[in-house]
Amino acid sequence: MLPLAAHFRCIAGCAGTYPLDEVIYRCPRCSNLLEVHHDLAALRQRSAAEWIKLFEDRFQRTQWPHGSGVWGKREWVHPHIRDENVVSMFEGGSNLFWAQRYGRELGLEDLWIKLCGNSHTGSFKDLGMTVLVSAVKQMIADGKPVSAVACASTGDTSAALAAYAAAANVRALVILPRGKVSTAQLVQPLANGASVLAIDGNFDDCMALVQRLAAEEGVYLANSMNSLRLEGQKTVAIEIVQQFDWRVPDWLIIPGGNLGNVSALGAGLNMMRELGVITKMPRICVAQAQAANPLYASFKNGFAHFEAMVPKNTLASAIQIGNPVSINKAIRALKEVNGVVEQASEAELADAAARADATGMFNCPHTGVALAALEKLLAAGTIKKSETVVVISTANGLKFTDFKVGYHESKLPDVPECRYANRPTLLANDYGAVRENVRRLLQA
Ligand SMILES: *Cc1c(COP(=O)(O)O)cnc(C)c1O
Ligand SMILES: [Zn+2]
Repeated sequence: MLPLAAHFRCIAGCAGTYPLDEVIYRCPRCSNLLEVHHDLAALRQRSAAEWIKLFEDRFQRTQWPHGSGVWGKREWVHPHIRDENVVSMFEGGSNLFWAQRYGRELGLEDLWIKLCGNSHTGSFKDLGMTVLVSAVKQMIADGKPVSAVACASTGDTSAALAAYAAAANVRALVILPRGKVSTAQLVQPLANGASVLAIDGNFDDCMALVQRLAAEEGVYLANSMNSLRLEGQKTVAIEIVQQFDWRVPDWLIIPGGNLGNVSALGAGLNMMRELGVITKMPRICVAQAQAANPLYASFKNGFAHFEAMVPKNTLASAIQIGNPVSINKAIRALKEVNGVVEQASEAELADAAARADATGMFNCPHTGVALAALEKLLAAGTIKKSETVVVISTANGLKFTDFKVGYHESKLPDVPECRYANRPTLLANDYGAVRENVRRLLQA
């Protein structure tokens, strides 16, 4: 039996491979990003049916660490992490549910929402951070000098990094754009004991600072340009297919900012296809906020060129990114599946989130961007009403109560009319007044 093997290699195809415990983020020849490449010949020693059986036997069971949606697929993720270095909080295994009522309102029979925000720190970032922090723990155990892990963040990355680093007793440093993350997102890394540097700048500025710290001060970079994270995040693609009894939906819709997550989705799909677990690919739509839409602009010119931009403010703060680090990976992933890019204005994203909330969800603004994209693609006929669609919900709405309260009080910037706002009725403590009100409601 061949041992399983994985290493870093350049996405542009330069020669050379690098071990997964080397501190390296870019190709030394062309400075493109690296990706994790798995030895598929070794993985093919198990048939597709055997992989499926193994993943099913482990899924959400108690045998540590395999109950985790990520570590249950460890051979495809990071085959070199030893059990004692796994830092897991049972990530993955999140709810994929049939959004029957909202789907029907759109004329779509088969709409599903993958709730990646039902997770330890409330976003899909946990899936990647469990892998990265486990790798760091193993590097430290093996005597490599890692003084701290650091990230720039629009909120959710720092929450996940802080939690996993705290669990592993590794020092975490997070750099945030001041005033641009929600209260809940700021308090998460503080609660988990991370050092928080709040910068008077935007996310792209924070990203530049942390890259320089990684290069000059020896801190380990935890942003998604570190492709170890994408290995964990790619399990979302596998898990969705698993939750459909190993059938492939027609569409996946995902909000995109730095574009690591859509790249991970592509990697997970490719791996399943290479190993015979699936035979067809879904199409992918990346949904961007109109205020931060460089990928959308590139899609509109057939990906002939790409231009970074300075993003404007958007309610979808986690995707307010003008210079996405994983741009090349994302375009490659989209081209492979005949993917599309759609955008949503502030009013469109806020109304879509609220309209879906009224059918029982509680959507974060980024999921609102994805839902607005769904509504637009349906209207345009790009997505057919007979197709099976999965919207990837990236964070828990409870992290974004300011967005929710602002919407229902009709006080959101750039949303002149909140079409689904629902206000409380203020009444005296008087049965007659309450009864009159209830009667009016029941007649309406
Ligand atoms: C990080 C994040 C995104 C964007 O993911 P990218 O990999 O940067 O494209 C979307 N939604 C939420 C809630 C996030 O935290
Ligand atoms: Zn290269």
